[in-house]
Amino acid sequence: MTLYPETYSESRSRFLAQVDGIRSRWPRVSLSQHALSFDPALTIDWIAAPAVKTQHNIVIFSIGEHGVEGYVGSAMQQVFINEFLPSLNPDDTGLLFIHAINPWGMENRERNNNNNIDLNRNFITNDQFDTTFNPTYDQLRSLIVPQRRIDSMAFETLRFFASVIGAIVKHGIPAIREGTLMGQYRHPRGVYFGGQTVQEETVLLMGLFEQAMADYQNIVHLDMHTGYGPRYQMSLVNSPLDERSSAESSAHFNYPLVVKTNPEEFYTIKGDMIKFEYELRNQKFPDKTLYATAFEFGTFGDALPALIRSLRAEVFDNQLKNFGAKNKVVASQIRREFCELFYPDEARWREKALTDARLAIRGILKAMIPSAIMAQR
Ligand SMILES: [Zn+2]
Repeated sequence: MTLYPETYSESRSRFLAQVDGIRSRWPRVSLSQHALSFDPALTIDWIAAPAVKTQHNIVIFSIGEHGVEGYVGSAMQQVFINEFLPSLNPDDTGLLFIHAINPWGMENRERNNNNNIDLNRNFITNDQFDTTFNPTYDQLRSLIVPQRRIDSMAFETLRFFASVIGAIVKHGIPAIREGTLMGQYRHPRGVYFGGQTVQEETVLLMGLFEQAMADYQNIVHLDMHTGYGPRYQMSLVNSPLDERSSAESSAHFNYPLVVKTNPEEFYTIKGDMIKFEYELRNQKFPDKTLYATAFEFGTFGDALPALIRSLRAEVFDNQLKNFGAKNKVVASQIRREFCELFYPDEARWREKALTDARLAIRGILKAMIPSAIMAQR
């Protein structure tokens, strides 16, 4: 079977089937699940395998925070289980594998959850959802949330390009990137909406991270994403709160492309999961070591035309949800482009993604888990 699944349930079944194999070396392994309140058929499943002797290191591997991105994530999680578990030492290393943080989004091939909330903008503590955050978004509204039905892909694309050019002239490209991707907390039907309450998926993950940090000394978390960065080169996306510079991380992990979520290297995010983990560590567990990062598998690419195409895919998908399309043909064109942005079909792309993931996992385990045995090859 190919590593890349076609459905959420296929991916989930494969994940659940891993428990028995893990038990051979981690005898106390357990499987847990959280059924979504509005649809118990959709579950967040996780496998927790405590270290056998001392709870020193824990490796957390999570996928599908942005639903549709979980298909590539699922392939990488399986690669980790197949190829890298043998190099970990169960005596001092525990595991926490989380399948589909956003199961509704994975099932429906959407990025957001069923409330149109981007979970990676939703890790907000103390309910401090700042509705005034990112005022630039409102200035770009005619570009990013057109208030009309889509009648034809070609015609709507022309209108979109005209708006993009207008916005570039008026605001500049950096402002467009920040104004959209940074997130916003005002417009529930808009794009990159971070919500106004902490979502149930987020609450669950916050608890899992806190437990892991309470139990272990050295926490390594790999979280899978797709959509941004160069097409054939996965980016390791570190938090600005990580102590190493991107260049230092690149050398440390022997991995060619490392960026941080700041406007110069990637883009700024508010309410993101990895930043939450660093803040949690800093506030409650300052003596623990943490390395949490996102594997970001680029798809359309990072040149300007590719960025515009990516934005179009996101805008049209949101527009389709809010206003519909003239007919099924138009709707399916929009959906196909959106899926291609997060789950490319091309065999060469999928092969390179696996190669990059293996290289990064190897480098990170070697650097961060002292007891891991990384065979040379
Ligand atoms: Zn993502």
